[in-house]
Amino acid sequence: MPNAKKTTKVGSIAEIRECPETGSKSLHATVELKYGQLISHFDPKEVLDRPNYLTVQMSEHRHIMLNPEFLQYINHSCNPNVFFDTEKREVIALGQIENGEELTFFYPSTEWSMDRGFDCLCQSEVCLKYIQGAVHLPLNVLKTYKLSQFIQQKLGIECSGTSNP
Ligand SMILES: [Zn+2]
Repeated sequence: MPNAKKTTKVGSIAEIRECPETGSKSLHATVELKYGQLISHFDPKEVLDRPNYLTVQMSEHRHIMLNPEFLQYINHSCNPNVFFDTEKREVIALGQIENGEELTFFYPSTEWSMDRGFDCLCQSEVCLKYIQGAVHLPLNVLKTYKLSQFIQQKLGIECSGTSNP
């Protein structure tokens, strides 16, 4: 089967799939997951002071490379099914996830200002089209998402009018 997707099992509940045409990778559930279920713990493999396209923001100047590494294949969606809890360092399910379903998270739920934006192709009804971090999104949109402690703090600061112009 020359066109079969390459898959790599990681842990007991997920696999990495690689699209043979584009080489793009994604992470998919290999079991059914329930709301609030722990998908993986994570730790910093490396801590950087600036974001890149693989890092997750923990605080103002802490951007971590993920350990385990396979978590980096969780792509963005404007209608995500997992959340990176940066306090507990856990990836959790935001709802029922079917066996085989792609795991996705909302990048602005942890990223304040990304190093570069991208056109979102998630095709969800609520797609925001262009993603470049929470600072670029209206508050009423952000409030519909589960957000990291850091992003919530930043929003508090931004809204109280004490931030620098
Ligand atoms: Zn989208």
